[in-house]
Amino acid sequence: MAEELERFFEEVKDCKKCQLAYSRTNLVFGAGSESAGIVFVGEAPGYYEDQQGEPFVGAAGKLLSELLSSIGLKRGDVYIANVLKCRPPQNRDPLPEEIELCKPYLFKQLEIIKPRVVCTLGNFATQTILGKRVSISSVRAKPSQVGKYFIFPIYHPAAALHRGDMIEPLREDFAKLKEFLDSGVEPEPEPEQLELL
Ligand code: URA
Ligand code: SF4
Repeated sequence: MAEELERFFEEVKDCKKCQLAYSRTNLVFGAGSESAGIVFVGEAPGYYEDQQGEPFVGAAGKLLSELLSSIGLKRGDVYIANVLKCRPPQNRDPLPEEIELCKPYLFKQLEIIKPRVVCTLGNFATQTILGKRVSISSVRAKPSQVGKYFIFPIYHPAAALHRGDMIEPLREDFAKLKEFLDSGVEPEPEPEQLELL
């Protein structure tokens, strides 16, 4: 972890803002390159992530690594984080209040990394980053600019582990992500703040 993220991790590592602090083994901050052009955002740590303090190290993580290498990327080329930094008991869905309390950390990580593309995995990450209740099936593989970043939503790898018929659509999402990354389009600059005299 490079310097600024490391400093931010030090600020966050003992967070007790929500109840998940009391059941976690490790807070799972995120991993990868501070200068990554693309950040992948998952939902929340699962069992192995909680045990090891690293994102996407279980079965869904293995699939994510394989899909990354299918488009010529290594985990170290990108940054990987989650909406929630602590594991919900029994991997239940994140609660709205947990997301509200935790998401400022994700937004700060994005501010530090300043990626070109934020690839959201599944419904929770997509809705959190887009700030609206959309269904992943209707927005998948459709890039849109939000603030300074392109948001590129795709299916969550865990969904493909639960439903065999989703692996092909997920591979298609990755192929489209590669096309988008290769296109080289840059986000429009945000409108300048008016200088107040
Ligand atoms: N699923 C997620 O959303 N995040 C992880 O870190 C692992 C599995
Ligand atoms: Fe803090 Fe987020 Fe962990 Fe809740 S899930 S304790 S808000 S870091």
